Amino acid sequence: MSSRNCEFCKIQSGEYNTEFLFEDHRVVAFKDINPQAPVHILIIPRDHFDSLKQINDEALIGHLFTAAKTVAEKLGLTDHRLVINTGPQAGQSVFHLHLHLLGGRYLGWPPG
Ligand code: AMP
Ligand code: ZN
Repeated sequence: MSSRNCEFCKIQSGEYNTEFLFEDHRVVAFKDINPQAPVHILIIPRDHFDSLKQINDEALIGHLFTAAKTVAEKLGLTDHRLVINTGPQAGQSVFHLHLHLLGGRYLGWPPG
């Protein structure tokens, strides 16, 4: 299930030879191109979902979080933040579901 003009579908397919920090049959993780923190990784499902609103597969949702946890451990991040922006007003700019893993600096709260 991929969307032809979706950059993240192309990334997960290996079309751009992106380095994956984690990959398995359902998800991949790679560095954000415009990092907002010393560590900024995106974790995405291989299948295309426009946003969190389109996904009902609880196992896959759980798998994304587990993958994020694995990446955080692999990078030695003790403190970190996971973010899913849903919809333009919440800052979503790429419409292929992704989980941001941020860390490596103090992260203020509330976010902007
Ligand atoms: P969001 O604004 O939550 O939709 O997040 C989209 C994120 O994807 C932003 O942080 C972008 O910097 C990042 N991004 C966009 N295109 C790419 C790309 N080709 N490779 C890696 N990260 C990307
Ligand atoms: Zn996609």
